[in-house]
Parts: sequence; structure tokens; C-alpha cells
Amino acid sequence: MPTFRDLLAAARASIREVDTAGAEATLAANPATAVLDVREPDEYEQGALPHAVHIPRGHLESQVESRLADKDAPVLVYCAGGTRSAFAARTLAELGYSNVVSMAGGFNKWKNENRDWVAPRTLSADQRNRYQRHLLLPEVGEAGQQNLLDSKVLLLGAGGLGSPAALYLAAAGVGTLGIVDMDVVDESNLQRQLLHNMDRVGERKVDSAKKTLVALNPDVNVVTYDVRLGAENILEVFDGYDIIVDGTDNFPTRYLVNDASLVKRIPVVHGSIFRFDGQVTVYNPFVGPCYRCQVPEPPPPELAPSCSEAGVLGVLPGIIGSIQAMEAIKLLLGLGDPLVGRLLAYDALEESFRTFKINRDPACPACGPDAGEIVIAEYDELCMPHPRAS
Ligand SMILES: [Zn+2]
Repeated sequence: MPTFRDLLAAARASIREVDTAGAEATLAANPATAVLDVREPDEYEQGALPHAVHIPRGHLESQVESRLADKDAPVLVYCAGGTRSAFAARTLAELGYSNVVSMAGGFNKWKNENRDWVAPRTLSADQRNRYQRHLLLPEVGEAGQQNLLDSKVLLLGAGGLGSPAALYLAAAGVGTLGIVDMDVVDESNLQRQLLHNMDRVGERKVDSAKKTLVALNPDVNVVTYDVRLGAENILEVFDGYDIIVDGTDNFPTRYLVNDASLVKRIPVVHGSIFRFDGQVTVYNPFVGPCYRCQVPEPPPPELAPSCSEAGVLGVLPGIIGSIQAMEAIKLLLGLGDPLVGRLLAYDALEESFRTFKINRDPACPACGPDAGEIVIAEYDELCMPHPRAS
């Protein structure tokens, strides 16, 4: 039966090792070298090599392929002293990684020699517990969760669509949520607007929303805008946000949002609902179509009644707003295929989802190649574009 020393000697014999000086020279010569830290989280938090990917030794086999996809790229693996990284290097070779070296002496020697290291940003113990189900997903992981905590999402409306979107984004740990709404909570809102409750009737919707979201997740900074979004303030309100979740229910505001998002180059996750039907799409400025590409002009007002006139089943915005939250998180984390250039249409009565392709309109007066400067101005009922062809 081999002893630990035998196993270590066998591992060392089957891998390549470099000393700390050699590792530093390798990183300087080839900055694309992936640096892999296989220590435990409490060791990693005390300090690590710059740009290190952290996968504790116990999770190496299950996580490395999703974190380091290119098996032919050079990898420098290290631990505290060079033992765990020797075993890790052998495991990596068994998984097909062809260019792996283990750093003899490990981080302790590296640090003692005053080589470059950083104190990585890490989640607190509370955050690690709260976001545990995210951390288990290699596609999110600690880096993705940090990314969400650093992200800023602006919600237009704290109503039917904004409620589920805000609740899920807050729960997911999106660090800053801006909410624009100038209404007060009304009892007739409570059939679908889950951010609010009976105790808040008569309160400003943004204040009610903030109370609910902060109670759900104290990590979230909720910024409220108790204003009507208009041409005079929209660029200022949008400033600094990564994503806009649009739950507005009137055409002039949608065109205004579209034009301002093009100016600021901020993606918009657009949702709309009507009776038993809902739609979601993502307008990614100058990458996919914009709202004007899809809806060049609004329908006449008599054909476009609002929810207050036509009614809506209360669960419907819950479904559509939740999909908006999902799309926002996918965009923030660079996951999957967001609904850019695709319209997802939901029919609640039929219980079906369909997707339709939406193309960019080469003649679009807002995002087309010949579009002139976009002028942000108030729109009347006709929403005629202010952007002028040059
Ligand atoms: Zn367009």
C-alpha cells in the first residue's frame, strides 16, 4: 500500500514544476497563462496571485472545465506550499489539460519573496450563505455573484411588471436597483403589484417598493425616483445603469426610453402585457433591433387601450416580469442567448410561448446607418420620431 509520500513523489514525477521565480517569468512572458488557485476559501481570502481563478482542490474535477474551457492553454496552478497543486496538476493532466505547471513553494514562498499579490474581493459569510444556490452554479460562481453585487439595474415602474422583476433582482443580489415611479399605492394595484400591500395604500410607490426590497435583501441599495420620466430628466436618470427593465405601459414613454437608451447605449429588457397575453424582448443598442425597428409607429389610441381600460389577469405580469428579471441577469453575467432580435410571446389561455424574429430596420430613424443625431424630446400621441435622417 503506497504512503502519502509515495503518492506525492509519483505525482511530482508525472508533472512539470516551476519555482516561484520561474512562475513569475512565465506569467510575464505569457500573460494569457491561466493562474489557478486550489487552496481553501479562507486561505484564498488572505491573499492570492493577481487574476487567479479560485477553485478549491475538492471542487477541481467538477468545476474546472467550466472555468478554464481551453484545455490547451497554459495553466499555472498553485496552493500554499506546492503539495496540493502537484496533485491538482496531475488531475488536470488526466482531464486533458496539456500545458500545466505546478508552482513549487506555493503562495507562501511567493509572498515571502515579496512578489506581486492581491487581497481578492470575497463574499462575506452571510453572503456566501444567502447566495449559496448561485455559487453552486459554475456559470455564476463567486465571480458572477460579485458581478451582480456590482451591477446597477433601473426599473421603469414599480407596478405589475416592475414588482416581480424587482423582487427577483433584489433576491439575486443585484447591488443597485433604481426604481422610477410617480404613483401612490392604490388598493386596485394589489391584484398584481406584489411589492406593495394593504398597509401601504396611499404611500408613494417608490417608498413602498424600497421597504419591501430592503427587507428582502439588505445587500441591495435601492435608489428611488419619484418623478415622471420625461425628456428633461431621462438621460440623467439613466446615467450609470447597466440595464433598464422597462415596464412602462404607454407608447410615448416607450419611444422616449428607446431613444434615450440608444444615446446612453444601455440595453433595455422590454416587457408588455395585455389581458391574457404578454411579450418580452431585449433591445441591445446598435447590436439588435430597437423599439422603433419593431414598432415604427404606435397604433391609434383607440386600438391601444391600457391595462386600466382593458384589464389584465394578475398572474400574467408575474410571469412576464420574472422573465424580464431572468433576461437582465443573463445580460449582466453574459449567460446564454438573451432575447436580442427575438420577441417572446406568451399566451396564457393557450399556455404557450412562441418566439418571433425581429430584424433591425436599415431605415430605422433612431438606430439605422443613416439615422441622424438622436434628439431627446417629449412625444405626443403620435410619437413621431425626433431623430432626423441626416
Ligand atoms: Zn432601430
